[in-house]
Amino acid sequence: MVDLFKVDTPRRAVLAGIAAFAAMPVLAAAPLKVIATTGMIADMVRQIGGEAVVVRGLMGAGIDPHSYRQTRSDIVAMTRADVTFWHGLYLEAQMEEFLADLDRERSVYAVADNLDPAQLITHADYDDSFDPHVWMDPVIWAQCTSIVVDELTNLYPEMRSLFEENASTFVQEAVALDAYSRDTLMKVPPKSRILLTAHDAFGYFGKAYNFDVLGIQGISTESEAGLNRISELVDILVDRKVPAVFVETSVSDRNVRALIEGAAAQGHDVSIGGTLFSDAMGVDGTYEGTWLGMIDHNVTTIARALGADVTARGRLGKLAGAA
Ligand code: ZN
Repeated sequence: MVDLFKVDTPRRAVLAGIAAFAAMPVLAAAPLKVIATTGMIADMVRQIGGEAVVVRGLMGAGIDPHSYRQTRSDIVAMTRADVTFWHGLYLEAQMEEFLADLDRERSVYAVADNLDPAQLITHADYDDSFDPHVWMDPVIWAQCTSIVVDELTNLYPEMRSLFEENASTFVQEAVALDAYSRDTLMKVPPKSRILLTAHDAFGYFGKAYNFDVLGIQGISTESEAGLNRISELVDILVDRKVPAVFVETSVSDRNVRALIEGAAAQGHDVSIGGTLFSDAMGVDGTYEGTWLGMIDHNVTTIARALGADVTARGRLGKLAGAA
């Protein structure tokens, strides 16, 4: 049998990790095998689980979770994992049925399940469903750590203090990221605080940082944008003299380019302000391939493109440079 986790299980690194954190509880057994659907969840579980977990994320850089369907190797991995974390709120629309079936036999948890509905944005078309893009608000995303801590602790009670300590660090980083985002975005002139992107992934961002947010497609990429929507948005760009619009790594830029052409035809030049990480993080092994780096990149890119005088290197000086 091929061990699907073997590639990701640097046993020596695990042991070195234990040596480095001598004060932490020592692994009593093998690390937990964890599957996470999106990169953002995989990153959170890695941060919280530390050396006590081996995490495999199903969706890599540039993958759209609204349309992603589990592959055969994903199915094998999920049935063999100790626990699978997914997002919920109908983000993984094509995987819901499979995950519901899996939930009857295996440990399967949606990290957004326990969020207070009062802080969620309701779906424009359905009363009983919510915008799933909660990782765009660091304060809300930090609350999703609680399910991860609880379920990892259930499976590996000896490591409770490690999980709790790591989660507390994660929350502190999220608070610092939120403060940076607020300060940085305040430097955008008020009239330019308008964020226009390929699909409606930035609702929580807009609510947290007081930006008008407009997506060409709705909160799922599954719906097509009509010509009416494009011409309505072109009028807004022209009327409000919006200087820049944004593309997303996990969505085609076709509609964004149509907008720019439409505005140009009315004599208003709009530039592409950069590429944002909406529903997928950057490449594995880079700063932008972490949730902290992803949000830092977005905030810094948006602020600079819309007129704020801030460094392209971001909150920690780690960004490769705004696109
Ligand atoms: Zn989305």
